[in-house]
Amino acid sequence: MDKVSFFSIVKNYKAVFLDSYGVLKNHQGLIEGVVDTIKLIRDEGIELRVLTNDASRSQVQQVQMFEDLGLRGLEEKEIITSGMLARQFLELKIKTGKFAYLGTENSANYIMKNGLTGIPISDVDIENSSDVAAFVFLDDEGFDWHRDINRTINFLRRNNLPIIVANSDKYYPISRDDVAVAIGGISRLCESVLNQKFIRFGKPDSQMFMFAYDDINETGNFGKSDILMVGDTLHTDILGGNKFGLKTLLVLSGNTRAKHAEVKINSTGIIPDYIADSILE
Ligand SMILES: [Mg+2]
Repeated sequence: MDKVSFFSIVKNYKAVFLDSYGVLKNHQGLIEGVVDTIKLIRDEGIELRVLTNDASRSQVQQVQMFEDLGLRGLEEKEIITSGMLARQFLELKIKTGKFAYLGTENSANYIMKNGLTGIPISDVDIENSSDVAAFVFLDDEGFDWHRDINRTINFLRRNNLPIIVANSDKYYPISRDDVAVAIGGISRLCESVLNQKFIRFGKPDSQMFMFAYDDINETGNFGKSDILMVGDTLHTDILGGNKFGLKTLLVLSGNTRAKHAEVKINSTGIIPDYIADSILE
């Protein structure tokens, strides 16, 4: 597949959904030149949303993080996180009581709503936990992996509850060559041990695309063919965009390296409509 320039493609769309990690930023910080690209998107009058499988920060904290990295002017409403969708699910399905979680206290505070209390799995009395109404996999930090993953397994073996994965990513890059296991990866370990299927939020599942689509259509009039989904990962950004019926553009500035792109596309069967080096030109 021939590479294209992001600038030449995005101009044909009324809205663009951008993945965050690997597109706007990487392990070193903001990808140089992204500020100019965002300006171009705005100057062209193209509606923008950032779709991130990150449940560890609220929208406000995401905006702040981008500002700290040097990208100013993103609005809260322009950021859609998988944590928001987990929160929405809890709002609709679990009215009162406690949810147990693996993750940081900050991530739990964010998805909490009135009437619900978050309790880290380390504080749950496994033998006496009838007041716990749901379990949420939130973040890969904030707990002791050995002790608390085992506690989680034993807790879930005893209790039949809705189990939610707020970030379905298996891993995330921490340097040019290395990755760290994300909470989605830990959730898969638990699924495999328990032989269960949990409820996942985040790309490639359609809720985030639906949320973003409904959101831009509150103030505008967008069809699916008006929207370009841009991401660096085939099995989340591109698969999710394709399934939702959007045109997709794979960038080679993150997870998918130029030298592997063709092979990965062929072996997975996940085919982007376009490939570009980055969103910088
Ligand atoms: Mg990414």
